[in-house]
Amino acid sequence: MPIELEENVALRALNTFGVDARARYFVRVHSAADLALLEDDPRLRGVPRLVLGGGSNILFTRDVDGVVVKVDVRGLREVGEDEHARFVEVGAGENWHATVERLLEAGRPGLENLALIPGQAGAAPIQNIGAYGLELAERFHALAAWDIEARDVVNMASADCNFGYRDSAFKGALAGRRVILAVTLALPKRWTPITGYADVSNELKARGLAAPSARDIFDVVCAIRRRKLPDPATIGNAGSFFKNPIVTREQHKALLAHHPSLVSYPMPGGRFKLAAGWLIEAAGLKGATRGRAGVYEKQALVLVNRGGATGSEILALAREVQDKVRERFGVWLEPEPVIV
Ligand SMILES: Cc1cc2nc3c(=O)[nH]c(=O)nc-3n(C[C@H](O)[C@H](O)[C@H](O)COP(=O)(O)OP(=O)(O)OC[C@H]3O[C@@H](n4cnc5c(N)ncnc54)[C@H](O)[C@@H]3O)c2cc1C
Repeated sequence: MPIELEENVALRALNTFGVDARARYFVRVHSAADLALLEDDPRLRGVPRLVLGGGSNILFTRDVDGVVVKVDVRGLREVGEDEHARFVEVGAGENWHATVERLLEAGRPGLENLALIPGQAGAAPIQNIGAYGLELAERFHALAAWDIEARDVVNMASADCNFGYRDSAFKGALAGRRVILAVTLALPKRWTPITGYADVSNELKARGLAAPSARDIFDVVCAIRRRKLPDPATIGNAGSFFKNPIVTREQHKALLAHHPSLVSYPMPGGRFKLAAGWLIEAAGLKGATRGRAGVYEKQALVLVNRGGATGSEILALAREVQDKVRERFGVWLEPEPVIV
């Protein structure tokens, strides 16, 4: 079957910031075979590709003069096991949160700390999604991706992905070169709750749950997230707009001397991760509004579309946040979403 290539497609409903942008070409792909057809299409020769999942970690500041490839590969199946884990392969187009819940209900816990993260399973490795004490890398086994240049499917193990804090090879050397088709997760056979994160342990305590089940963790994480984060269905956003910056022990000491209430977390190797939300709030920007873009009043790390904002307006606000935080603390905040 030929691929269905659309032209001049509106992207507003396809990004959680809800900003207007158009794609010169747009296509949905369901398999590697679709990607092969795409490569053979004479209309797309030399046309740049932009892969899109759920659009929850992307800011469009302009129209896309290329082809937006929306990944719609489906499927969820157990593909093997070893002594420690069961391996489950998830199609890149599956909704991440629905997958977490389906697996939990099927007696396959292990992802509950990552509940309610928007987007698709295929994007989870891109920035090594993480929340509430768990990162994808800890539950990752392998992935299958389409290599655009080689025009073939390649299999990648964890070491090939180079996972870091909100980072992977797909944001570096492999940026724009691979389309993830399926992700194989490793779900632990001997499940133990991850409760080290203060918000989680406090909420469990408040609910009187001393020995929480995976379902309890799932419910607690969902409740915390619903309280703290704006729902993109009502207020456009892409979650945290900035990564938490990592500084050396010396920088941390100097900052703490001037700002005793600085919020930070020790990291392996003597470095410290600073709470970017705290830095933005201390720079006086929590709740700020510039045009139709804003800094969310309940969580300064989240930039929001207050209604009809353009991507450029949101980007200008992001730049102001970066500049003010650098002026005040000498620390540069790196954006988390992909800026187009
Ligand atoms: C309210 C809210 C809360 C959030 N909370 C968190 C959180 O707690 N932790 C966290 O880590 N993130 C969080 N995010 C960010 C976002 O949900 C994740 O990064 C998610 O994995 C993005 O998935 P997506 O399918 O929407 O990706 P998109 O936004 O569509 O794409 C993001 C990037 O991945 C690439 N990409 C997408 N799919 C593929 C594929 N199949 N193959 C190759 N490249 C691909 C795109 O080209 C783009 O560069 C949050 C976002 C929102 C709106």
